[in-house]
Formats: sequence, structure tokens, C-alpha cells
Amino acid sequence: MSHVENLWEIPKVQLNEERLIDLDNQLKERLVLIQSRFGDVRFATSLAAEDMAVTHGISKNARSIQLFTLSTGRLHSETVEMVQQVEKYYGLNINRIEPINEDIGQFIEQYGINGFYDGEEAKKQCCYVRKVKPLEGALKGADAWITGLRRSQSVTRDELHFEELDEQRGISKFNPIFDWSDDDLWAYLLFQKVPLHPLHLKGYPSIGCEPCTRPIRVGEDVRAGRWWWLNKESKECGLHLK
Ligand code: SF4
Repeated sequence: MSHVENLWEIPKVQLNEERLIDLDNQLKERLVLIQSRFGDVRFATSLAAEDMAVTHGISKNARSIQLFTLSTGRLHSETVEMVQQVEKYYGLNINRIEPINEDIGQFIEQYGINGFYDGEEAKKQCCYVRKVKPLEGALKGADAWITGLRRSQSVTRDELHFEELDEQRGISKFNPIFDWSDDDLWAYLLFQKVPLHPLHLKGYPSIGCEPCTRPIRVGEDVRAGRWWWLNKESKECGLHLK
């Protein structure tokens, strides 16, 4: 796919400086508000563009918020390296949350290591043992958590709000850039000189596990490269379903 022409590229957008400063202030206000309301707040980062915008905001304005990433065991090497680079760049710690070996062993025994290609059920189970269950551990004891989700990312996310109730855990879940457009996001990242995941330069708008994420072409849905063998409504890993 790397030789295919017409790959998606980082949008070259320019917003006026006033808008860019507004976005920075908005993110600051939202993060400071969350930090002031809760003692133990945790942010889940995949190192993708949205999460880098939030990480940038946390590093500048709300450093008591703890960062973690789900080290699924199937990530691109670029993602694994980026965790260290971001820690160093911002002087922050990112907790690596790993799946339980026994769960992975059981999945492989039942479905095969790449069994998720066989259909929705196996994909759901793989995401459960590598992401959803580890997320439960990552959020144990938290008072609130934060994501980098945006409404315009996907049909499954168009009803997002800034604050939601995570009913499963009985805590608040915040989406501080829920209402940012694609242009807002990319212009902000470039203006603030935020470190970008190297796969964004290779046609990947969305970052996930290596075997389940591929580059997309210009004009495709931004999540078309995620679980491309499944239908559109299945393009979530279960981390954010209500
Ligand atoms: S994205 Fe793919 S490899 Fe990663 S947990 Fe889900 S099914 Fe498994």
C-alpha cells in the first residue's frame, strides 16, 4: 500500500491566529476545569493526532492528569517508540497498560493469533482482551477520565459531548476536543508544533493496532483504514461504546 498513489495526507490548513488562540484557550479552560473538579483524572492516549492535541494541553495546563496508553502487544513499532519520545518531549510519564498473558493465550488458542480477520465475534474478543479489559484496570480507582474523541471522526461519534457519564464505571468521561473540526485539529497541531505520529505522514489518519489499521486514499472515510474487512458500524474497539 505504501506505493499506492493518492494516499491521504495531513491537511494543509491555515486558520487565522485568533481562532488558533481561541482553540488553545478553550482546551486550557476545559482541562483546568476537569482538573479542578476531580482528584484522580486519567487520560487514555493512542498517540494519534487528537490525543497529541490533548497531551499538549495537559502538559501546559493540567499536569496532575495522569496519562496511560494501552500497550496491546500488536501496536506498530512507531507507536511504541513514540510513547518514549512524547514522554521525553513533554517530561510526562505515560503508563503502559498491558493485557493479561492468560487472556491472550486463551484468545490465541480459540481463534488463532490473527483470528480477528475471520469476523466480528473474533475481532470483538481480541479487542476485549487486548484493550477493553486492560482499560478496566487502567481506570480502577479513577474519579474521571479523558479521551481525544471528536464528533467528526465517525458516524459512531456524532453524538459526543464534552462531559458524559461513563455508566459502566459510574464516573465522568470528558471529551475536551469533541467539537473540533478536522481543520481545527490539524491547524492547531501545526501551529503549536506538536510532535506527530510518523504514520500520519504515510497515509494513516487513524492509529490503531498494526494488523487492523492501514493507510487510506484521499476521499475515503478517515476510519476506513480501521478493521476495513468489517462494516462501518463495527469500527469501534468497544472502549467507547455506551
Ligand atoms: S485492533 Fe485488532 S489486534 Fe488490536 S485488539 Fe482489536 S482486533 Fe486485536
